[in-house]
Amino acid sequence: MTWQLPQEVRGLMEQLEAAGEAAYLVGGCVRDHLLQREPEDWDLATSALPQKTQQVFAGMPLVLDGLRHGTVGVVLGGRVYEITTLRREGPYEDHRHPSQVCFVRKIEADLARRDYTINAMAWRGGALIDPFGGQADLERRLLRCVGEPRRRLEEDALRILRGLRFASQLCLEVDPAVREALHARRALLGDIAPERMQKELLGLLCGPGAEQVLLEYADVLAVLIPEVGDAVGFCQHTPYHIYDVWTHIVKSICACPPDPLLRTVMLFHDLGKPYCFTQEAATGRGHFYGHAAISEQIIRRSLRALRFRQDFIRKAALLVHYHDASLEPQPRLIRRWLNRLGRQGLEALIQVHLADNSAKNPAHGEKKLASLRAYQEAVEEVLRQEDCFSLRDLAVNGRDLIAAGVPQGPQVGEILSRLLEEVMDERLPNEREALLQRVRQLR
Ligand code: ATP
Ligand code: MG
Repeated sequence: MTWQLPQEVRGLMEQLEAAGEAAYLVGGCVRDHLLQREPEDWDLATSALPQKTQQVFAGMPLVLDGLRHGTVGVVLGGRVYEITTLRREGPYEDHRHPSQVCFVRKIEADLARRDYTINAMAWRGGALIDPFGGQADLERRLLRCVGEPRRRLEEDALRILRGLRFASQLCLEVDPAVREALHARRALLGDIAPERMQKELLGLLCGPGAEQVLLEYADVLAVLIPEVGDAVGFCQHTPYHIYDVWTHIVKSICACPPDPLLRTVMLFHDLGKPYCFTQEAATGRGHFYGHAAISEQIIRRSLRALRFRQDFIRKAALLVHYHDASLEPQPRLIRRWLNRLGRQGLEALIQVHLADNSAKNPAHGEKKLASLRAYQEAVEEVLRQEDCFSLRDLAVNGRDLIAAGVPQGPQVGEILSRLLEEVMDERLPNEREALLQRVRQLR
């Protein structure tokens, strides 16, 4: 097997070798190379002790915040390459942190501390080092732990979520012993720092194998988001749906483009349903009045607890809030949506509506999907005409108003908003003269 390494990576490895140390590529980049994918990052392992690594790369900018674990980051060409001294980990105390790190000389010992066989391979001098059969597992598309699954997941429970992420991203089958351990040890995820879980959760949601993983491991997800547990198997009792709440959610996630924001929105959009379910006495038909507002509360609370960025939470909560709002194709109403959500926001909302309706009863869904596509075109038409839907687009600004005699202060903003409303409603053309005339009436 040949591997054309990027020049930077080759250079780093050669410098270590020239200093009499062994240098290996390890982990994700080896896995991705075997899958013929472009690696996300390049991790190196070396026999050099951290101090020696620092000496070898003394002339280059270094990142030293991982030094405690034996990691030296070398900054090169705008990237950080992590170079970690070969190590094994001491006994784990709290399902999170190894209590001590011991440096070792043998690559096999370092690979043995890694989570899954597909991540426990190394590359040096044109040869693959694969003591746990990772390559064969990749070929079989099988997720197996290095060593005894229950024990390995207990050591660091983040591996539970990482396992689901890899199963989803790489469409892996999960080895039966691992599957059993993932379910049995799921509660330990409660001890894991939320910051560490975010990336794995998003990776899981955006993987091509997400559907199967989400359906099979809802109990694991429910440790992070307890409302998932209540959605599983919750029958909707309505002709619009053929799936229970959780299955509908999962199908809608997978009907969405693999975008972290959109897929997160779909994960939460209907989680409020079980808490507002009512049934008509005569027909038994189910309703979920007000569920979007409850789902919005759930997404805000959950994403905050998982330490998502404020801006992400705000966007996601807004989309959940409006996920079943009615979207009518009149330009006047479209402009109002554009004003409320912005162009990207409205485009995202349409994706959410499309995904939601793709996962209901197809007998009703087709008509709805057709009208959503027509709506999408109507929005594009409004955008093509460069219509006015935000204060920025208005043909006058605050300075113009002051020049026209409006006193400086809150009244400027009030009149601008009023003008925008009237322009969006087509009661007023977005033309400077007409707007200034109206200003004189309003001031
Ligand atoms: P990605 O392609 O998303 O970066 P990755 O497998 O490289 O995936 P990283 O988080 O970059 O994931 O970790 C690099 C390597 O470190 C992994 O391939 C694995 O060998 C090891 N590793 C990472 N996290 C753990 C963990 N929690 N337990 C054991 N080994 C881990
Ligand atoms: Mg990586």
